[in-house]
Amino acid sequence: MDCIFCKIISGEIPCKKIYEDENMLAFHDINPVAPVHFLVIPKTHIESANDIADVESGVIAKIFAAIPNLAKEQNLENGYRIINNCGEYGCQTVSHIHFHVIGGKQLGWGKDF
Ligand code: 5GP
Ligand code: ZN
Repeated sequence: MDCIFCKIISGEIPCKKIYEDENMLAFHDINPVAPVHFLVIPKTHIESANDIADVESGVIAKIFAAIPNLAKEQNLENGYRIINNCGEYGCQTVSHIHFHVIGGKQLGWGKDF
């Protein structure tokens, strides 16, 4: 399958990894939009938020349970944002579900919505 994030999981494409276990991988975004910007992805190829129910949804709960720990490790104690872009209008560019975690400064809200 021609999926960039599956290739990152397999090691075919390198990444700056911050966490890995049997369910998920977390790594720094190649094009950060804030001082801290990492992605958390399931190791299972799930295309988007539309497809969670069709696959094994427990992994998504595990990702959300892991994010606070990862955020703490990345010094995001003042807060952060979790973003999932879904589909064309949601600006999803990689069809392997991923959760952006961004922070490290006071974020704005509402400009593009
Ligand atoms: P989307 O727009 O689909 O929500 O987000 C995809 C994200 O993946 C973007 O923020 C983009 O910078 C990031 N990205 C795309 N290709 C790579 C890559 O090869 N390595 C890393 N670390 N991030 C990537
Ligand atoms: Zn994939």
